[in-house]
Amino acid sequence: MSKNVYVTPSGKKLVTVIPGDGVGPEIVSCVQRLIAAVGAPIEWEECQAGARVFKQGIPSGVLSSTIESIRKTCVVLKGPLETPVGYGEKSANVTLRKLFETYGNIRPAREMPGVPTLYSGRGINLVIVRENIEDLYAGIEYMQTPDVAQGIKLISSMGCEKIARLAFEFARSEGRKSVHCATKSNIMKLTEGTLKSMFEQVAKEYPDIEASHIIVDNCAHQLVKKPEQFSVIVTTNMNGDILSDLTSGLIGGLGFAPSANIGNKVAIFEAVHGSAPKYAGKNVINPTALILSGVMMLRHLEEFEAAESIENALHVTLDSGVRTRDVAGDVGAVSTTQFTDAIISNLGNSLPQWSLPVRKPLHLPETHLDPEPPTDRRVVGVDIFVESRLNPEALGTSIAKLTSEAPFSLQLISNRGTKVYPAMGAMTDCVDQYRCRFLFKKSTRGLTDAEIDAQIFDLVQQVATDHKWAHLEKLQEFNGKQGFTKDQGEN
Ligand code: NAP
Repeated sequence: MSKNVYVTPSGKKLVTVIPGDGVGPEIVSCVQRLIAAVGAPIEWEECQAGARVFKQGIPSGVLSSTIESIRKTCVVLKGPLETPVGYGEKSANVTLRKLFETYGNIRPAREMPGVPTLYSGRGINLVIVRENIEDLYAGIEYMQTPDVAQGIKLISSMGCEKIARLAFEFARSEGRKSVHCATKSNIMKLTEGTLKSMFEQVAKEYPDIEASHIIVDNCAHQLVKKPEQFSVIVTTNMNGDILSDLTSGLIGGLGFAPSANIGNKVAIFEAVHGSAPKYAGKNVINPTALILSGVMMLRHLEEFEAAESIENALHVTLDSGVRTRDVAGDVGAVSTTQFTDAIISNLGNSLPQWSLPVRKPLHLPETHLDPEPPTDRRVVGVDIFVESRLNPEALGTSIAKLTSEAPFSLQLISNRGTKVYPAMGAMTDCVDQYRCRFLFKKSTRGLTDAEIDAQIFDLVQQVATDHKWAHLEKLQEFNGKQGFTKDQGEN
């Protein structure tokens, strides 16, 4: 898939720039100055999003003119955005990522010259490729009972295929030789397990790259112990959020952590950090994270020479001891603008020992492993979630009695995923939400969907005679494969 780039009549590449909140305008202007100084053919279209837009009463925090601009340019350089308390519920950042389906978040962490860390000299040079749309970040949450909140972890095969392919394509574009996939598939077999299995399928198409799976908690452990063993790590949204803050800590902190939100049409480049409000307007913040995001943007626009020139000049500047307050402390630190001036004066210079790899354009992958709709699917039962303050035995006895004539058998009742009825001697603290698992006594083969639903609704009515139900989940099999997990203690 080719990238969308808007070329102006004067032959420049048009980029939407959102200065953002807090320190945003200061760091965005550093990047604009550097790009002008290096002579890259970029033209900016300035747009607004974030706190000041929320305060205009626009609940999304994003102006429609900003959305129009991004539709046109397909490339964005963005300062951090705040969601001020009392204005809207949703982050303008997340809105932008979702509106433009930027499904991959690429977060490099590379050791920087002249930035002392516990890991200096070990050559950390890795990239987290984080899924950016799905997972718990779909933001689907409910108070299911007064006591129990539920968040839905949504993972699709298509989303996993896209992010796995992006990781391999990114590795190829930078000449990287290995990709790890970090999941918690040992526990979340269906959600996290989908990424693992799609990764393993996609890996077969990239025989030039070593592919391995690692359990995400061990990945965190290994990242702290021996980070230099990793090159590319692909992972789900929540895991990637946490791991990438960890990896920025390894190389000097959030001031050095860039990111690119990549979609098949739109790409948004931003620092990992937020608006750091306490430093706003003080001209002290480290602009490196956004400068490196700008470098990623130039590569995305295939302005490789300009990108390399800025990155090299940044290395020379840091190596010469010119540093902002976060690295230098209060004595000897330069301001944000002095730091940028120093990089500009170093354009054209490089550190031979910090050479940059030859990068190729990132090929944005198409998906093609979409699972065929199953040829055989069957409803085998239903989970009814009920709110109750009864003890498990009393609840189980009551529900078994209420449903004794139903075409279902009460298989078990669980509390927070552990079987509590029929009792098996567990010492579970029960909250006010129980899951009652019913299985059809006879196969539903031959019944229509409407007939199955009617039986389920009858069952719910029987349970509802004496109990509050909160949520239903059909138990299904697809091509003979169980589409639900068992409870702890379920046989
Ligand atoms: P933050 O803005 O990232 O700042 C947290 C701390 O990290 C700062 O106080 C500072 O640490 C350090 N830091 C961050 N950027 C730095 C830089 N460039 N140079 C040096 N140090 C840097 O996180 P926050 O205070 O939690 O969030 C503030 C606002 O930003 C919130 O409204 C949040 O929602 C928003 N936010 C936006 C984005 C985004 O737009 N993508 C991302 C994250 C957060 P010290 O105090 O130790 O100096």
